[in-house]
Amino acid sequence: MLARLFRLHGLLVASHPWEVIVGTLALTVCLVSMNNLSASNQICSWNDCPKVEEKVHSSDIIILTVTRCMAIVYIYFQFKNLRQLGSKYILGIAGLFTVFSSFVFSTVVIHFFGKELTGLNEALPFFLLLIDLSKACTLAKFALSSNSQEEVRENISEGMAILGPTFTLDALVECLVIGIGTMSGVPQLEIMCCFGCMSVLANYFVFMTFFPACVSLVLELSRESREGRPIWQLSQFAHVLAEEEDNKPNPVTQRVKIIMSLGLALVHAHTRLIAEHSGQNRTEELPIVERLDPAGTQWPVQLSSIDLEQVITLGLALLLAVKYVFFEQAETESSLSLKSPIISSPPTQKQWLAEDCCRRDLPAPKPQKTSNDRTVRLIIIPSAASVSCSGESLAQTSCPPQSVSESRSLEECMAILSDPQGGAHLLSDAEVKNLVTSRKILNYKLEAVLETPERGVAIRRQMLSSKLPIPTALASLPYKDYDYSKVMGNCCENVIGYMPVPVGVAGPLLLDEKQFYIPMATTEGCLIASTNRGCRALSLSGGCSSKILADRMTRGPVVRLPSACRAAEVKIWLETSDGFSLIKEAFDQTSRFARLEKLLVCLAGRNLYIRFQSLTGDAMGMNMLSKGTEQALHRLQQQYPDVEVLSVSGNYCTDKKSAAINWILGRGKSAVCEATIPARVVQEVLKSSTAALVELNINKNLVGSAMAGSIGGFNAHAANIVTAIYIACGQDPAQTVGSSNCITQMEPAGPAGEDLYMSCTMPSIELGTVGGGTNLPPQQACLQMLGVEGSSPDQPGENARQLARVVCATVLAGELSLMAALAAGHLVKSHMTHNRKKKQVSFWSECGSGQPPTNTGRPLRAGFL
Ligand code: NAP
Repeated sequence: MLARLFRLHGLLVASHPWEVIVGTLALTVCLVSMNNLSASNQICSWNDCPKVEEKVHSSDIIILTVTRCMAIVYIYFQFKNLRQLGSKYILGIAGLFTVFSSFVFSTVVIHFFGKELTGLNEALPFFLLLIDLSKACTLAKFALSSNSQEEVRENISEGMAILGPTFTLDALVECLVIGIGTMSGVPQLEIMCCFGCMSVLANYFVFMTFFPACVSLVLELSRESREGRPIWQLSQFAHVLAEEEDNKPNPVTQRVKIIMSLGLALVHAHTRLIAEHSGQNRTEELPIVERLDPAGTQWPVQLSSIDLEQVITLGLALLLAVKYVFFEQAETESSLSLKSPIISSPPTQKQWLAEDCCRRDLPAPKPQKTSNDRTVRLIIIPSAASVSCSGESLAQTSCPPQSVSESRSLEECMAILSDPQGGAHLLSDAEVKNLVTSRKILNYKLEAVLETPERGVAIRRQMLSSKLPIPTALASLPYKDYDYSKVMGNCCENVIGYMPVPVGVAGPLLLDEKQFYIPMATTEGCLIASTNRGCRALSLSGGCSSKILADRMTRGPVVRLPSACRAAEVKIWLETSDGFSLIKEAFDQTSRFARLEKLLVCLAGRNLYIRFQSLTGDAMGMNMLSKGTEQALHRLQQQYPDVEVLSVSGNYCTDKKSAAINWILGRGKSAVCEATIPARVVQEVLKSSTAALVELNINKNLVGSAMAGSIGGFNAHAANIVTAIYIACGQDPAQTVGSSNCITQMEPAGPAGEDLYMSCTMPSIELGTVGGGTNLPPQQACLQMLGVEGSSPDQPGENARQLARVVCATVLAGELSLMAALAAGHLVKSHMTHNRKKKQVSFWSECGSGQPPTNTGRPLRAGFL
């Protein structure tokens, strides 16, 4: 109701900006003229007020000076924060808001106090401290996230609906709290508090009227860019509505505020009544200054003291203004370009980097004495960190080009690079880039050649950025504060950053009488919520049980023989125990963990496909298998010199491609997991019934998949769970192709057939807990959550097998929950809730009914696919 009222108010103000602006201005002018009339004979401006000579305590002066400085610094930081948003519109609008609210405030004060303005300037800093630009800024962001003028109005009214009630309540509470001070009996405090109250009211008045009207008008006047898009529209505000709605004030806090304000109102009323009764009416009628200081001697300040105080305040204000205007531009843009959800460098450090990067020219060449007393002419770049910053910012911001002055010749640079006393840290970014362009440094070796990998990544980004259609494209791809030493030569090449993916947790999952919390990295809303529900259902059912059926990785090279008959001879030899032993001996030598178990040989014409099948310990084992296979093929060639190895992988493995061989014979770990879910849990947690689930499973996962000619896809969404765990736990994501093979089965169970028996069989889970991405610290953290990080201390391979059981059990939980959601018809609504939160309403209204097409009316939590 209240929100609706504010929404209407917002719409009204945004739709009639001229009227509101003119009305507000007229009101303000009216106040000024009233003041002029009332004080026409003794108009007294801030500066004209007679200063009464009186001795002032030095402590007063210090306090006032500190307060003023604080206020200036506070305002400075508010603007600095706004600048982080990178929008001149936000800045302009917030500035307008501040100036106008100050103007209204001053007008009100002048009118209220009439000619008695002596000493009021002492309190002005407090007024500044009460200005909070964040709400004005948020409302402006609402407007700036619009695509058209209509949307501007809608968004302003939406913003009003969200911010208005809070702002009103805050203003009320602030007024009442500060108002307490006006009854304190301490004259200086009373007048300060009176100021505070008026400041809050003026701010509130401007925020509710003049400000939204101005925003609406400004945006209407600057509507179209040349491309036909609104020039204000800023992509970074695209989600502001969603964010703000998520950040809605806590209802408990709101309630506390309301109760507080009621209490305070009572206190005020009570105090005023007592004051009236005790005959203080006369003083009440006087202007506050007179009341506080009838002799007119309050806050007189010695001229000399004021001068000193003013000099300090003015100096600080000037300093900050100069810093803000001349130096912050480049710094802010630089930080914007670097802005990422994960950058964790402390602000102070970032500031220094940016300063080094953009504010100053690099230091002039300094002669450096080497230990051999040779003079090296160098442009010193102080630290790797500052260099990497400059590398980034030059590419992605409007920083002026470094005035590294004359770049040295390639020969000089190479000499510095290869000089044991020199090194890459003595080269500027521009010089390094020259070396890369001229192929003196190979681009892919940047991390290794430069003094830190991060600088190598920064320079690669910089060089790449200039070639991209949008040169600032990499600004939101983070690259800082990452341990590239774990990546180099192990996980990734030509690195330009890292991709943050949200990681959620599902669980506890009760598996084989142990609880697990499952890390899942995904951007699909709803997935983890649904899996979590499945875990809960399983845990309430006494948990699930799993078994590993087989553990072997495969590699299937293709070799060619001169003829099909010769190929058949080789096949037969490989299938003898002697042949196998010789090959196994060669294979097993290549690793402490790889142990060849079996060879499966098939023939196509004169081609032979040999599927090597081996234990791999805790490693997923593809590199291990490749290495062993290569060695074994050399041994085979010794036996049969006419064997021609076409490829160490002949797709008979089969790795990262859908293949019936994996589904039928298995690959990696083969696992099965089962559970019996009581009817009560099926009904209460899953909101479904055993009969419905069993029927759906037959018709969807079995018949449906058969009709689609599926290979290993007899499930609802095993790949969802497998992929999310694989990304979180550092597995090779491409192996989700085979690892997601799964058949989900459901049957009625229990005496009455109302319980649900369910199993998931997954024959080809390809994973490991050592090697590849499992070497990276964040991925290791997720493996540690499951207690399976690294090598198993007891028995090689046990960690990897445990991880496979967890994957299979989590798939079981995911299958259970999704199938239940589908059976209950919850799928679409859950997705709308978790994926498209803000559009849900319009979606259902588009459906015509305003209601989801399910008639259950229950809270929904799960479903995809
Ligand atoms: P790997 O890191 O290449 O090999 C595992 C290493 O860990 C071996 O050096 C092994 O010792 C050692 N190790 C230590 N403790 C171990 C234990 N308890 N169990 C097993 N090994 C242990 O890992 P991988 O699994 O063989 O290969 C995974 C990588 O291959 C991933 O990065 C994946 O993306 C990539 N990959 C490669 C191919 C390919 O065709 N080559 C295909 C797909 C994926 P030993 O030296 O004694 O064996």
